[in-house]
Amino acid sequence: MKKFQSLSKQEISRYQSERLKELLAHAIKNVPAYKDLDHELIRSASNPADSIQHFPILTKKYFNENSESYISNTADRSQLIANRTGGSTGEPTRFYLDRVTVEHFEAARWLGLSWSGIQIGDPSVMVWGSSIELSKNQSQIHQLKEVFLKNRTIISAYDLKEESIRKYLDQIHSFKPNYLYGYPSALALLAELMIRNNLRLRIKLNAVVTTAETLQPQQREVIETAFDCKVINEYGARDGGIIAYECPEGNMHISAKNCYLEVVDIHTKQPLGYNEKGLLLVTDLNNYSMPRIRYQLGDVVSLSDKPCGCGNHLPILGSLEGREDDVFVSRDGSYVHGNYFNQVMWNLESFSGYQLIQHTHEDVSLKLVKNVGSHDFERDEQVFRDEIMKKLGNIHLSISFVNEIPRSSSGKIRYAVREFPLVTTPTSVEKEKEFTTLNL
Ligand SMILES: [Zn+2]
Repeated sequence: MKKFQSLSKQEISRYQSERLKELLAHAIKNVPAYKDLDHELIRSASNPADSIQHFPILTKKYFNENSESYISNTADRSQLIANRTGGSTGEPTRFYLDRVTVEHFEAARWLGLSWSGIQIGDPSVMVWGSSIELSKNQSQIHQLKEVFLKNRTIISAYDLKEESIRKYLDQIHSFKPNYLYGYPSALALLAELMIRNNLRLRIKLNAVVTTAETLQPQQREVIETAFDCKVINEYGARDGGIIAYECPEGNMHISAKNCYLEVVDIHTKQPLGYNEKGLLLVTDLNNYSMPRIRYQLGDVVSLSDKPCGCGNHLPILGSLEGREDDVFVSRDGSYVHGNYFNQVMWNLESFSGYQLIQHTHEDVSLKLVKNVGSHDFERDEQVFRDEIMKKLGNIHLSISFVNEIPRSSSGKIRYAVREFPLVTTPTSVEKEKEFTTLNL
């Protein structure tokens, strides 16, 4: 991995092309879901980047319904490693990985951490709430494994309160971690509680690493202030591996040795150029046991061709907008990412949290958490209302005040929620139909 990141841009792209060529040929020859694409064999050998665009986009829904057909005939079933997503939105996805793929995921994480001076096996404290971890966590064996094999201890993201803050800081002090790792919402809350109670860590951390939710600039700021170190963002998914890691220059470097990324238009599903935001499609270059080609992970991003000053040649993401499920649809049919409203909200002093839910095209509700001590609630509420109406058009907006925004069953906080599917265009309907026919 370390050797790979110092290759030239051309060498990295040549490597990706070679691996893609092998993977596409393997999938067509050995994976039932792809066997009807045998007419792509010749093109995939001469121009894999072009050929892959003739493979259908793989949605989570389609994959969940047909997952068995994605297992390669060459896979040793006794060696497959079962995994699933937490399912914070909708159905969990169940899939298999092999040992080679899992180790590449881990290697990509350690490579990313190494940019901040963190070494393999360094102690960490994890602020976590995923139901998968928590259910395992109940067994003492899991706790012991965490401490003795992974050198980390876990603080529950569900339990961060004013009363428990000193207990958690004691836990951190006695474990002496090099870094903290967890959800940005939970780490930001921990940071806010520390600042409010005038508490500081007595140990120096290398970094606070955030993952699993979209990191907001304000969360970064409060975490960096409270812990007096840099925040490093990890972009990964259980069903996608470590996709990108932030370097000390603040750029998200793509794990180009592990995955091939494409970005397509939300509406037309056509490939987009650099710096154009769209749906991310991930092709894992190592998983030959259960290949998923052009897997639609559910995030909105853009790619960049900008070089980074940190000396690392891995390509970078232009932007990481967040989840596709956080995209709202305005009355005129245009898309507005939930991040827009984050910026609005964080500039208003009266509120410390919010959740915007689009139930239908016309029906939207906003939950607000009041900031104690502010006096401009009415004015700020009007500003927020105006921004929402300006972006989403003439909708019906109901506003309510709550004490806190509840965490989902996986422990994550969602600020933006759309409760209906994005409009399906004729192009993608046709493609889905085509794909269904191919696999019958
Ligand atoms: Zn960099």
